Amino acid sequence: MWDALPDAARSIVKELIIHGPQSRTALAKTLHLSTGSLTRLTKPMVDAGLLVEGEVVHDPVNGRPTRPLDVAAAEHRFLGVKLTADRVHAVVTDLRAEVIAARDEPIADHDPEAVCRQAKRLLDDLSNGLPPQGLPQERPNGKRGGQPNGRPDGWRAGATVGAGVTVGGNARASAQVGGEPLVDAPYLGWSQVELAPLMERALGVPCVVKNDVAALAHQHHWFGPGRGLRDFALITIGAGIGYALIVHDHLVAATEADLGMFGHLVLDASGPMCPEGHRGCAAAYLSSWSVEATAGQGLRRAVTYEEVLRLAAAGDRVCLSVVREAAAALGRLIAHVATVSMVKTVVLAGEGVELARLAAGDLDRALTADRRGVPGSVDVVIEADDFREWARGGAVVAIQSFVTGSD
Ligand SMILES: [Zn+2]
Repeated sequence: MWDALPDAARSIVKELIIHGPQSRTALAKTLHLSTGSLTRLTKPMVDAGLLVEGEVVHDPVNGRPTRPLDVAAAEHRFLGVKLTADRVHAVVTDLRAEVIAARDEPIADHDPEAVCRQAKRLLDDLSNGLPPQGLPQERPNGKRGGQPNGRPDGWRAGATVGAGVTVGGNARASAQVGGEPLVDAPYLGWSQVELAPLMERALGVPCVVKNDVAALAHQHHWFGPGRGLRDFALITIGAGIGYALIVHDHLVAATEADLGMFGHLVLDASGPMCPEGHRGCAAAYLSSWSVEATAGQGLRRAVTYEEVLRLAAAGDRVCLSVVREAAAALGRLIAHVATVSMVKTVVLAGEGVELARLAAGDLDRALTADRRGVPGSVDVVIEADDFREWARGGAVVAIQSFVTGSD
């Protein structure tokens, strides 16, 4: 049934997922539909259990009593998976990307089929920790769920309807063979792996494979600080420096040639050197390995990234200096992004966001200086560093594929 949904019906579901329950009149107004069309489009989705009606309230548009429509969020579950070099992070979410269960564990075997089997076991384990599936659930309108007619075959309350897997670093899903993206992920030892069909066979549900930074941008766009924004940029700071751009509500697609460029944008030609031989590129200031190396030089001993941040927070002069320099470089990088792409919001995520908090003043001064001294011209949003968020990005691309009918 979902495959046959008209675009107008999909836009109703998308609107309700992102912005929450709404009356039919409010929805019709937002989506430029007549109330007649809206009723015609929503009825089969209510009958099928994808949409539900809430308690009677007074319509904010015309004051009449109405029952707002909402999506049956809890009754649709999605698996999100993020693969790093040595770990698999998995979450199960509802239709609004709320995490219901999460787990991460080492990758047992890097063979692609073995990783797919591990994902399936994680899905089963996480699902088993959840309330029993298929039980009638209390609906907002007080009705029991039951099994209304018209539900697609195999559909049941709380069933997993899709999965999204994200891969990072230089991984790319670009070359198209028979319509399926091939995944190159050197950090996993993978070359030209047809991951999506392998995952679909293992999991038994449709699977989308995406670059991890792109997936995180989608997540922020629908469910994070980018919600309601038509334009924003995402910068991720960690072992690598990632970048994604949403313009006019769409992700600007990166090809394999674009991936990995951003982190080597030169900020200061007399700066420190990166392993690729650039002086003063973003990675030379901001990546976790360069922060470790620079601090290690000053401290004259090996030091971990977490330790540098902890010592900086405690006032250690060497570590504080490294962190302040990195934060200033980040400020310059944000200024570049905002100036060239003309976005007004830049979201920061990843394990390195702490340096933006520790040296917020340095970041801000550098950003303002590169924006011709105009303070506050860019809204910088610092997200919590939580690895589950990356796995959640996988669930979000699966949700988007389910709702929009395309990858
Ligand atoms: Zn570089």
